Amino acid sequence: MNPSRILLAALCAGSFALAAQAQDPGKALGGLLRQIVPGGLPNLPQAAPRPSPATGDLVQMLTESLAQIDEPREIEIGRQLAAVLLGSKPLHGDMALQRYVNRLGRWVSLQSTRPQLPWTFGVLDDPGFNAFAAPGGYVFVTRGLVDRVDEAELAGILAHEITHVTGKHHLKALAAKARAGLATQLVASQLRGNAQGAISAQMLALGRNLYSSGLDQGDEYEADREGVALAARAGFDPYGLPAVLQQLRAAAPDNPLFTLTLATHPPAQQRLERLEVAMGARLDALSGKPSVPIAQRLGQR
Ligand SMILES: [Zn+2]
Repeated sequence: MNPSRILLAALCAGSFALAAQAQDPGKALGGLLRQIVPGGLPNLPQAAPRPSPATGDLVQMLTESLAQIDEPREIEIGRQLAAVLLGSKPLHGDMALQRYVNRLGRWVSLQSTRPQLPWTFGVLDDPGFNAFAAPGGYVFVTRGLVDRVDEAELAGILAHEITHVTGKHHLKALAAKARAGLATQLVASQLRGNAQGAISAQMLALGRNLYSSGLDQGDEYEADREGVALAARAGFDPYGLPAVLQQLRAAAPDNPLFTLTLATHPPAQQRLERLEVAMGARLDALSGKPSVPIAQRLGQR
């Protein structure tokens, strides 16, 4: 069996493994991701002596105060949300692509304000044009997105998602939802009788709601601004992210591949206008680098 098939088989089994490992979804997730990260995940605190807080407690803490969510808890929440994402879309089976996106993302994340997080990047096997992040350093892009961008554009998207993580934007949104009592309502309405052993029903409900409704719009603009600066700091053309936004602006509103991204973000035109104001001409000296197709990086000219 070729490596892709093996990876894919492991990943397909992964969602079941997640459900089966009631006490530690992150362990199962770490096992999956270790296969796509060369040398494993040295920073992932899987063997941390501190017991993971009970998942019910995490939702409770979110409702009380974000100050209670220290970094290990933030990472734990991220693992659970990453499992929610992987439960709906598996990782793509192309190992070379996974390694490339991981290397690229890790390089960009090293220039961020939180380089010490256990950053993990993956490509989801989905034709849509989407990117997702979860607290603690999990970032996923879809295959449909990777197929439509070059390296600088991908770096810009990853930088945008990295900024959501470093700014704790998901935690803020989750806390707002949890405080509104949404978890309880959603659990009651959607998850009756659902045997999701790995993740608390409340966290699963919050996560699904979060990824379908999106983040605070102000946080999206911040992720654009900071993302452009971060990509530039990592050595990429700062106009990568604006180029992606132009692509989004041009997308037909009824194109199903773009529906989720367009629905969960401010209009691309407004994002471009705000970026133009924020960037001015300050980063122009860093632009104009030749475009690097991703296929070229993967040796498929
Ligand atoms: Zn965003």
